[in-house]
Amino acid sequence: MEMPSAPAMKMLHQQIEARGIHHPGVLGALRDTPRERFVPPAERAHAYHDIPLPIGFGQTISQPFIVASMTQLLDPRTGDRVLEIGTGSGYQSAILSQLVRQVYTVEIVEPLAKAARTLLTELGYKNITVRCSNGWQGWPELAPFDRIILTAAPTELPPALIEQLRPGGRLVAPIGDSWQELIVVDKDPFGKIQRRVEYPVAFVPMVGKPK
Ligand code: SAH
Repeated sequence: MEMPSAPAMKMLHQQIEARGIHHPGVLGALRDTPRERFVPPAERAHAYHDIPLPIGFGQTISQPFIVASMTQLLDPRTGDRVLEIGTGSGYQSAILSQLVRQVYTVEIVEPLAKAARTLLTELGYKNITVRCSNGWQGWPELAPFDRIILTAAPTELPPALIEQLRPGGRLVAPIGDSWQELIVVDKDPFGKIQRRVEYPVAFVPMVGKPK
């Protein structure tokens, strides 16, 4: 891995740690992941500002604080198999892959899926599988998952994703229309669902809702 740059370290301290991210694994993954590689060349100067950036096709890479916070809320464990909906640039996948056993990530825009797959391979991440498909269906062949994270916002929780969450598992997602709430869903060992609201967020919509 490349050495973290000074701007990367500054962002980590001033934007991430100062705002309540304390999970050592999450902080380590943020430090070790070259965010500038996940944004278009024209945006590189802003890679270590705590803001979302355009990645093409009307999509964005989330702001680092939100990536860190959602990852911490997901409570990833080393043995976990994680499903992500909304690969985008692949940055969130890269962060997760350093904390869990395997990341499966689904992206509906084919060129984004392809670009993420190429970049993640080039950067040497070996435990991430990218698929181009509609996340509303999840990834039934590989279910159940210990953790599920959505980085595009559906108006309601896709039933297939709740189904594909392992008992004892956790799902983190933005839910809503133009503004959303970040929610944490826990499935207890008996399959019962508990849901709590964390804070307001603004994500791109999850498209392709089945009629
Ligand atoms: N996790 C990404 C953030 C990407 S933005 C990152 O770290 O860069 C959300 C992504 O979700 C977009 O790329 C968008 O194309 C994708 N998306 C939207 N609806 C989707 C769906 N139904 N299934 C899969 N991906 C979807």
